[in-house]
Formats: sequence, C-alpha cells, structure tokens
Amino acid sequence: MPVYTYRPVTDSSEKPRTCDMCSEPFEIIQRMVEDALTGCPKCGGAIERVVTAPNLNGVGRVHKPSDAQLARSGFTQYKKAGKGHYEKTFGTGPSTLNP
Ligand SMILES: [Zn+2]
Repeated sequence: MPVYTYRPVTDSSEKPRTCDMCSEPFEIIQRMVEDALTGCPKCGGAIERVVTAPNLNGVGRVHKPSDAQLARSGFTQYKKAGKGHYEKTFGTGPSTLNP
C-alpha cells in the first residue's frame, strides 16, 4: 500500500499545534482507493496531502530494456536506413524490410 505524506494546513490566525502527529508533516499508509484525509486522525486538525514523486525508492521504476535484452527476448528491431527501407539491427526477422 502506498505511503502518503500529509502536512498541517497552517493558518496564520491559528495557534501552533501541539499534536504530536500533525504538528509536523507525517506519513500514513492508506489504500489507494481511500480519499485523501482532510483532518488529523488524532486531533482533527486540518491537514492536506503532499503530492510526492512516486518510486523514490526505485520500486516499480521502469527500465528501458537494452537491445541485447530485447534480442534475447525474441524481439526483432529494425533501424530506418532510408526512405521506406529498414535494416535489421538484431532479431530473427528478414535482414531488410522494403515495404
Ligand atoms: Zn493532530
């Protein structure tokens, strides 16, 4: 389940919070289907979800496969060698394509 970061919504007219949960930004684990919290689970103070970049720890990052990996996986790649003419760079297909 994703971890969401929340921070207190501070209003200059509001006195500083003393709640140990929301007086500073905090993280909470939620299911993705759950709505963003608007109140601190502990004291009910106004909070907002901080949008953070996903996959900071590298989990789920998509790596572009290398040509060698693609070739091992059975793909055939062609590079454009002219107008309507393609030469195979790797793979098992015909060495050139001339549509
Ligand atoms: Zn709180």
